[in-house]
Amino acid sequence: MMVKRVEHAGGELYACEVCGLVYRDFEHALACEEFCRSHPGRCSRSASARAVGRLLPDGGLQLFR
Ligand SMILES: [Zn+2]
Repeated sequence: MMVKRVEHAGGELYACEVCGLVYRDFEHALACEEFCRSHPGRCSRSASARAVGRLLPDGGLQLFR
């Protein structure tokens, strides 16, 4: 598993491959993924509070508003 790069509006976002949350910063996505891997089935609230969106099962991207 690795942090996934997602193209969006001419820029790049970074997604945790475990839970699908999307971040503007690679470091936040990496921290989320490390947490998700070591705590299966639980999401880090401190990390997910920084998420700007999430990946959808069909491969799309949903941004939080
Ligand atoms: Zn995650």
